[in-house]
Amino acid sequence: MSGTDSLIPPSTEVENSVALKTDQVENNTFSSKASSLFDEVVKKNPFFAAGGGLMILGSALALARAGIKSGSAFAYRQLLIDLEIPSKDKSYLWFLQWVGKYPNRSSRQLSVETSFQQHDNGSVTTNFQFVPGPGRHFIKYKGAYMLIRRERSGKMVDMTNGSPFETVTLTTLYRDRDLFKELLMEAKELATKQNEGKTVIYTSWGPEWRPFGQPKSKRQLSSVILDESIGDKILEDVKDFMGNGDWYFDRGIPYRRGYLLHGPPGSGKTSFIQALAGHLDYNICILNLAEANLTDDRLNHLMNHIPERSILLLEDVDAAFNKREQTNDQGFNNSGVTFSGLLNALDGVTSSEETITFMTTNHPEKLDAAILRPGRIDFKQYIGNATLYQMEKMFLKFYPNEFEKCQQFMEYCKTVDKKSHISTAQLQGIFVMNKNDCDGSIEMIKQVYK
Ligand code: ADP
Repeated sequence: MSGTDSLIPPSTEVENSVALKTDQVENNTFSSKASSLFDEVVKKNPFFAAGGGLMILGSALALARAGIKSGSAFAYRQLLIDLEIPSKDKSYLWFLQWVGKYPNRSSRQLSVETSFQQHDNGSVTTNFQFVPGPGRHFIKYKGAYMLIRRERSGKMVDMTNGSPFETVTLTTLYRDRDLFKELLMEAKELATKQNEGKTVIYTSWGPEWRPFGQPKSKRQLSSVILDESIGDKILEDVKDFMGNGDWYFDRGIPYRRGYLLHGPPGSGKTSFIQALAGHLDYNICILNLAEANLTDDRLNHLMNHIPERSILLLEDVDAAFNKREQTNDQGFNNSGVTFSGLLNALDGVTSSEETITFMTTNHPEKLDAAILRPGRIDFKQYIGNATLYQMEKMFLKFYPNEFEKCQQFMEYCKTVDKKSHISTAQLQGIFVMNKNDCDGSIEMIKQVYK
């Protein structure tokens, strides 16, 4: 019994083992079938085998590439920083000038910027500066490596001058980001230094101010000879205005002052304003209101975007009043500056700094009384033809030690002075023509008065 017992497993165990075996058999049959099917379809089919392999390899590569791409983008974001300087920004030119002079750089694509420098004796030197052209460049600045990319937009064009928009992008390590500011400050200081002792003359270029030629050597204020004490009076007034900012701010009055210099042409109005700007270490923005394509909008925009430390000079302000007549009588509404456009622009100048506006005209009688209100024109001065005082001073300026001849010259001038209409510009012309010959000048002046 016991032998049989040991031979025959209990019925449940038998069932289990049978079930197990059946499963194994079924599994075996399924997996063997599947693998034989796989063998049949994939392995034995040479096309599928090759394609499948390629597909797997391709997907793996694509995944790896996407991984590397997003990984490098992540690393770029974390490690590097970009600074974009568009060509519309003031620092753009400063940067290009600075980098053109920077020694630690490697550039293969260069652009040339040609400039002319006028010396005090009138001679002109040509300078070529090589700046990084469109492309990639490297510099090492204060121990940090920087990549410079100068790019030109193929599609966008600056409508004011037809040149393509450009950007310069600087890239460096995130930890060196503070160097961007230092670099731009250095570039600005270099630009300012180049202009030291000079007066930058800005003229309008479309809706913006652009330096006109190279900065000019400052003209000495004493070289413009106005009638007795006029120059000093204007200078004192401007200085007083500049030193009283708090007075204006405390009272909530716009910090601006308008000056009108009127009188015949060639009496030194423009020259005096330029010399005054130089004396005060200011630049000058010149706008001629008689310009045909100057509109009210452009005038307003320009007057509200004056470069820092600049005096605004509006020449021929009477032009705005001519237009007003035209506007009324002939219905020309869209061209030129109108009277109301000028008043709006004068009233609307908002600047955190002081605004000094000089206006000139040869026809003060054409000006409307509305412009003579304080806040628009606060100081009015006639600058006329040469007076005896000016004649004597100018003679001695050109012929410094010729006191006797000067007396002779003045004796003659006094006899004809009552009817004198000679302008200081004319007088200067005579002296220039007779540089080393004061007798020649005396003779010539007699001809003029004949
Ligand atoms: P305005 O603006 O009154 O028409 P400008 O300032 O343009 O006159 O002067 C024309 C030229 O004559 C300049 O070269 C200037 O140097 C000379 N000039 C005119 N007036 C004077 C003056 N009072 N003193 C020195 N130069 C003068």
